[in-house]
Order: sequence, then structure tokens, then C-alpha cells
Amino acid sequence: MTEPPNGPDIAAGDAKSTGGDKYIGELSSIEEIAAAVRSCTRCGLAGTRINAVPGEGSDSPSILFIGEGPGANEDEQGRPFVGRAGKLLDELLGVVPLLRSDVYITNVVKCRPPGNRDPLPEEVRACWPYLEAQISLLKPHVIATLGRHAMNRFLPNARISDQHGRATVWRGIVIFPLYHPAAALRSTTLRQTLENDIRRLPAAVLQSLEMSATRSQATSGTDVSVAADTTAPAFTESSVEDETNQNRLF
Ligand code: URA
Ligand code: SF4
Repeated sequence: MTEPPNGPDIAAGDAKSTGGDKYIGELSSIEEIAAAVRSCTRCGLAGTRINAVPGEGSDSPSILFIGEGPGANEDEQGRPFVGRAGKLLDELLGVVPLLRSDVYITNVVKCRPPGNRDPLPEEVRACWPYLEAQISLLKPHVIATLGRHAMNRFLPNARISDQHGRATVWRGIVIFPLYHPAAALRSTTLRQTLENDIRRLPAAVLQSLEMSATRSQATSGTDVSVAADTTAPAFTESSVEDETNQNRLF
């Protein structure tokens, strides 16, 4: 599965082309993905951006934060979450405590939609393979989505008011939805909720590690009784399309 859950298929011929001479599946490091993103022409946003914003942080992060798309400050600097929302994110990470360099921060679309409009379905679809490549190289224990839009790319019909601060398994990775820090700048209640949820991220990472340990024991083939445990609902893979089959961890 290579497309976002809520978009139709991209034309098969260019599904993985960077717009340059490479295919996204051939990119074998985070730096190579970043370079391809910076020169990408896969969608119309290439024509209006100042700088593409591939993302930044650790190359083996415990947590991958995903926002929706760069804003004006990010477009100017080529770095994610560097405006007011980003400052709040930094401050709240400091509460855990986490540094930006401990995690990786990126967006669903890597180039700014003009006027901060929502990205179009075809823009999300064109950019999605970069996010997939980042996820498969970074192998985060937890994906923390920032805001409703980023969450809905993974959990299509989920409501942020229900799902924030709750872990769900998607393709074997724990998804932990958070409110967007820009929303938290507009409401002290949401700010407190976001802080409380961010404080629970280490627990989500632990949960993810326990899940992986159980899975690797189960697949080692040496312990039949553990292998039998893989039928327990907590460790089955959820389907992207079927949110009723998503796996609530806590
Ligand atoms: N909002 C986002 O969703 N992403 C950024 O990088 C900055 C603001
Ligand atoms: Fe390429 Fe994504 Fe930028 Fe579109 S938004 S040009 S797909 S990097």
C-alpha cells in the first residue's frame, strides 16, 4: 500500500518518480530523501514555494512528529515548525523533556500551500511516498500527528476530540494524535490538553517497545506459547481503511 488512505491512486507511471532522475523507493537515506524533496516537482506546490521543507531531527528518533504542511516561516527557512506554533512545540517538548534533536519533525506535504490553504488531495497524494520513505527509514516507535488533518491521513474518520492522547496501531506503528500547537496558541484549555498529552508520549514509546518485543518473540519460532499470543487483539495489525479495526492500546 503506497497511497494515503483518503486519496485516489496517482497515475501509475509516475507514482514514485521524484520529478528528477530518481525513484522515491531508491532513496536510501534521510539525507537523500531531503535532497530529492528540495528539488521535487511532483506537484504544483513546487511552483509557489520558496523552500521545500523535508523535515529535520534524529535519524533514529523514538518519535516522529507530523504536521500538515509548512507555513510562511517554514517556507522562508526551509525548516519545519519554526514559527510561533513551533516555539510552543519546542517549549512543550522541553516539559517531557525532549529536544528537537531527539525526535524527527516533518509534514504531510513538504511545500507550503499558498495562503496556508489546506493541501489539495492530489498534492497530498504526490507527496505521500516521501513520508512513507521517511517512516520506513526512520522506524519511529511512535508517530505523533499534530492536528486533525495529519491525524486523518492515518486514521481517516477519527475525531481529534476523541483520539488525542490515545495510541492506535497503524501498520505496526503506534500513532498518537495530538492537537496542533497553533490551535493550542488560541486556547489555554487546548494548550493544557496538548501539554498533558505530550507528557504521555514516553508511555506510548514504552507501549510500542513492548509491542515490538512481543512480536519478535512471537516470530522467533522458538516459543510456541508466545507465538499463540499473537492472536491477542492488542498486537494485530490495523487496517488503514477500516477504522473500526484500529487497535486501541490505551
Ligand atoms: N504548521 C504545520 O503544520 N507545519 C509546520 O511545519 C509549521 C506549522
Ligand atoms: Fe514535491 Fe511534496 Fe513539494 Fe509537491 S509538496 S513539490 S510532492 S515535495
